[in-house]
Amino acid sequence: MIQEITQSRYLGVLCSRCEERIPVPRTAAVLYEELKRSEVSEGQDAKSRAFTLRCKVCNEESVYGVKEVLEFEGSPRVRTSEGMRASAAHA
Ligand SMILES: [Zn+2]
Repeated sequence: MIQEITQSRYLGVLCSRCEERIPVPRTAAVLYEELKRSEVSEGQDAKSRAFTLRCKVCNEESVYGVKEVLEFEGSPRVRTSEGMRASAAHA
């Protein structure tokens, strides 16, 4: 069972181009936790434990391995009401 991830932390990788933090999908987070607990033996199809992620900042799509996953503090970036802020800033 993997229910220890608190809301103030999230798993992600650093973009290979701009080094922005990219939150990983849940499937990747599960793989990361398995590896961390050594439930998966090293070398055993380690290469298949990779996933493709697209950076929202520079739009670069890259393949990342589970071993590149990092734990970040805080919350992932979420766009909220961008239109409202834009019009307010223009006043
Ligand atoms: Zn990027």
